[in-house]
Amino acid sequence: MSVLDLARPEIRAMQPYSSARMEASGGQVFLNANESAWAPSGEAGQGCNRYPEPQPAALVEALASLYGVRHEQLLIGRGSDEAIDLLVRAFCRAGEDAILIQPPTFGMYAVCARIQNAAVVEVALTADFTLDVDAVLAALTPSVKLVFVCTPNNPSGRPIPRASIERLAAALTGKALLVVDEAYIEFVDAGEDGSVSDLIERYEHLAVLRTLSKAWALAGARIGCLLANAEVIALLRRIIPPYPLPLPCVAAALEALSPVGKDRAHEHVRIVREQRMRMTEALRDLPGVREVLPSQANFLAVRFEQAAAVYQRLLAAGIVVRNVQRYPNLGDALRITMGTAEENARVLQVLQEPVLHEQALQGDAI
Ligand SMILES: *Cc1c(COP(=O)(O)O)cnc(C)c1O
Repeated sequence: MSVLDLARPEIRAMQPYSSARMEASGGQVFLNANESAWAPSGEAGQGCNRYPEPQPAALVEALASLYGVRHEQLLIGRGSDEAIDLLVRAFCRAGEDAILIQPPTFGMYAVCARIQNAAVVEVALTADFTLDVDAVLAALTPSVKLVFVCTPNNPSGRPIPRASIERLAAALTGKALLVVDEAYIEFVDAGEDGSVSDLIERYEHLAVLRTLSKAWALAGARIGCLLANAEVIALLRRIIPPYPLPLPCVAAALEALSPVGKDRAHEHVRIVREQRMRMTEALRDLPGVREVLPSQANFLAVRFEQAAAVYQRLLAAGIVVRNVQRYPNLGDALRITMGTAEENARVLQVLQEPVLHEQALQGDAI
């Protein structure tokens, strides 16, 4: 059985759009794509009168080497969000198929499924936010085509052990595509489990999501990747829009992946890890903090006695954090992204101020 047997038959059968850029080869005078013959005004737009390469060779090369996969095992999209959407559309028949997720987790899996009218099977993470492989397998039905696992998980910050992922991959063979979202994997401490992308060779129905949005500081450029079996990548190339990657974004990504860019990114990841450790310790000592969940990502999920009030207090001081109280098992938690040392110190300062002071201020306002 091929992994493609899990995909929608009509997607496998369809004739993909053939763009002018794909059909062209060679030539110096380009009159085939109804583009403007003139460059737009302004530095930022140079080269933008032409449609971009669908999968720019230089960026494919840089990312394949970064992630240790072959070119044909990589699809670059507008953030890993686009890859999630493409996977759901390629594998889930509307009104029939399903995805499986483990709440509390990243919201986009369920959003993409609902847009496609695919069902969402939920198998909660354990009380300490790890993956219950047996529970996932017990909940599996023939309609589940995609199983998403997020590691380190957003919003808990806890990584899923490689052994659990491998056990799941082995058990899902021929049944469902396992999609491991590694948006935060660069922030994992040395000595902890790293990326599982090397397992793609062994499990043809394993896919890995990577992104330049977090550790590579390019959230605004929208560049993310799917690493998977070459057949899965070829299938998704049929349905991705013809020119997904804007030229200026590709240029920004190539600069970020240059030797200088890499040094810079590694240094910032090092600072995030150090800040994560310091903030974990400092927050644990504060009154009103119930628990700081151990995190391997660039954020901390923190339980407070009065999370909503703390959220408002930080906001009043100009600091915006994420209220994650709506997530199961996180009803008393806020998610705090690691900023610069100065930004994090401001968070601590606001949380250290006695609450009496705040009540007095509120009294004044009334
Ligand atoms: C931020 C995030 C992403 C989205 O990444 P983009 O590449 O910016 O689309 C994917 N997965 C998780 C778990 C995230 O937290």
